Amino acid sequence: MTFDTHDARALEALLDFYVEAGIDFALDEEPHDRFADTAAEMAARAEQRARMADDDRTTAPERTPQSRAEPPRGAAIAAFPQGAETADEAALSARGEARAARTMEELRERLAAFEACALRRTAKSLVFADGNPAARVMLVGEAPGRDEDIQGLPFVGRSGQLLDRMLAAIGLDRTSVYIANIVPWRPPGNRTPTPQEAAICRPFIERQIELCDPDILVCLGGPSAQALLDIKEGILRSRGKWVEYHTGTRTIRALATLHPAYLLRQPLQKKLAWRDLRALRKTLDSLAPRDKSPS
Ligand code: URA
Repeated sequence: MTFDTHDARALEALLDFYVEAGIDFALDEEPHDRFADTAAEMAARAEQRARMADDDRTTAPERTPQSRAEPPRGAAIAAFPQGAETADEAALSARGEARAARTMEELRERLAAFEACALRRTAKSLVFADGNPAARVMLVGEAPGRDEDIQGLPFVGRSGQLLDRMLAAIGLDRTSVYIANIVPWRPPGNRTPTPQEAAICRPFIERQIELCDPDILVCLGGPSAQALLDIKEGILRSRGKWVEYHTGTRTIRALATLHPAYLLRQPLQKKLAWRDLRALRKTLDSLAPRDKSPS
């Protein structure tokens, strides 16, 4: 096949459009019609549900309107694949999976097999964690970006490099912190995860925190602080304030700070992040030594 200038321009415009839409790398050599896949799955599930409804009709209690809440308008079809029909059901299934994991490795395996978050279908990798799971400090970001998706590790792109420099400024590195994200799959085009996606994945990160059992939790950016610390106000107001976080087995200290990606865009705000880092170092130094980990 030969291309003339017109075709080349059209192709270039299409590629530009893809990049603007957030499609900035190819997952595979061949294109896949994921919508066709999901439509087929939806049809199979609808058929299965109809069969179950027939079986249950005489015995099942009437469901309330709330318990049958539909996915929001505009949500992609099959937004909660594999059995879960609503975000609530997907989050419930996540809770069961996360609670059943007794070790970090088991949690990773269960997350890798968890199908009820649609983000996993567009992401290349599960980005579970980096650093030392025995560390006293655990950092939780928002969601992987492009570089993280490619490498399968959190905070390895530009914001990760800044994070490394920030940690180094207070004598920490990836051997002395453990790093994960609220959502372990890259949202298409690096968009912020929706509240539903965050809610579905939250049981996993909560269990990950419980299994890591850090003394200090640091939330990087607003979405992380909102998801884990139940903070409603913006990050510029909530950052730098120590709050309590209940891991499930004990209460630890938690701090929200500015996300490194935000600092790359707003370098003048680094002075605020520096204050938070100093507060982190001071609190870390004030803790009684513990056997299991470096600081
Ligand atoms: N931003 C995040 O919140 N997490 C990452 O892993 C990378 C960038």
